[in-house]
Amino acid sequence: MSFDIAAIRAQFPILSRQVHGKPLVYLDNAATTQKPQAVIDALVRFYSECNSNVHRGAHYLSDEATRRYEHARDVVANFLNANRREEVIWTSGTTEGINIVAKGMAERLQANDEVLVTELEHHANLVTWQQACKKAGATLKVAPILNNGALDQAAFAALLSSQTAFVAMPHVSNALGTVNPVQALTRTVREKSPRALVLVDGAQGVAHGDVNVQSIDCDFYAFSGHKLFGPTGVGALWGRYSVLEDWPVWLTGGEMIASVSYQDATWGALPNRLEAGTPNIAGAVGMAAAIEWFSALPLVEVKQHEAQLIERAVALGEEFDGLTLVGNAPEKIGVYSFNLNGIHPADVGFILDRQGIAIRTGDHCAQPLMKRLGVPGTARASFSIYNTIDEVEQLFIGLRKAKEMLS
Ligand code: PMP
Repeated sequence: MSFDIAAIRAQFPILSRQVHGKPLVYLDNAATTQKPQAVIDALVRFYSECNSNVHRGAHYLSDEATRRYEHARDVVANFLNANRREEVIWTSGTTEGINIVAKGMAERLQANDEVLVTELEHHANLVTWQQACKKAGATLKVAPILNNGALDQAAFAALLSSQTAFVAMPHVSNALGTVNPVQALTRTVREKSPRALVLVDGAQGVAHGDVNVQSIDCDFYAFSGHKLFGPTGVGALWGRYSVLEDWPVWLTGGEMIASVSYQDATWGALPNRLEAGTPNIAGAVGMAAAIEWFSALPLVEVKQHEAQLIERAVALGEEFDGLTLVGNAPEKIGVYSFNLNGIHPADVGFILDRQGIAIRTGDHCAQPLMKRLGVPGTARASFSIYNTIDEVEQLFIGLRKAKEMLS
């Protein structure tokens, strides 16, 4: 399949709507992506053809719902190149996946242990570890970035030791777009801290490239369906089987038990052991449809297209008087964070919105990172496969208007 931008856009019904009487220019893809018709249809089909609870019923619809739901798990396992399908745990999203790991880790951390995170973290991969360390009396260490927003890899390596029990890092920074060399960083962890477990926050990583958990060699990879053209409220946590096998249970209830008496209970096998209660069945089916849709695209051309969008934005930004780009790491995907001198990012967002252009403004759930960069927040345009060069140019026309009105 070749990369045909018009054909791709035509598959996203929302892209043809208007807001404030203007054609929508949707540049808030790091917050959530839009959904192609294939995903919308998969949700409608599930509810109209075979809605039923999974794993429980002795009837036709329940069997069919279970088949579709477990097929969705296979799709996620293949997408991540997991060794075994039981390594895929359904979650409500990246945040829940990280919390499952951090809550379990809090029970295992000792007072002398260290957990290493980076300055690039989203709060979901920072506050969780900060709180786990507090609970266990362990120490949280933070690997610094360079001024361009790239991770300082030498400093990261220097912070690793035999005391390091856990390392958590983002695949891609949501605030700056920096891509971390997660495979090389994990290798460094294995060399310097052999007992440490490694979690990669994949929320921003999955929609921009091929993820292979076996070659990254991490122990956990967490992501959300909604950043990958799938529904909200569903995601997956991948964990290495030998690590997940006896991971502390998270929620207790139906689905996750082997046997129960009034006095005690024993836990079932993976993956259900970490999936108490009725799951988001339609969400899982919709997420699998999104992965199948995305995986059918020609990845090299997708990457080229996104690179062209960010290159155009950077070039236009360089010509724009008073615009400061925030984050220009050499390895970076289509996140364009910036500030207009003397103008609050929220005001920039407001003026753009009136022109139909959706961006995000604020701290991007990365307050310590904003502090490190010396900015209260940024305006962030984030690109996806359906965005066009024309839309990037419209962003800058909108910014010129914002500058005229606000300065
Ligand atoms: N980590 C990163 C890097 C993110 O960008 C996000 C979402 N902005 C999250 C974690 C949390 O994802 P969710 O809200 O889908 O759980």
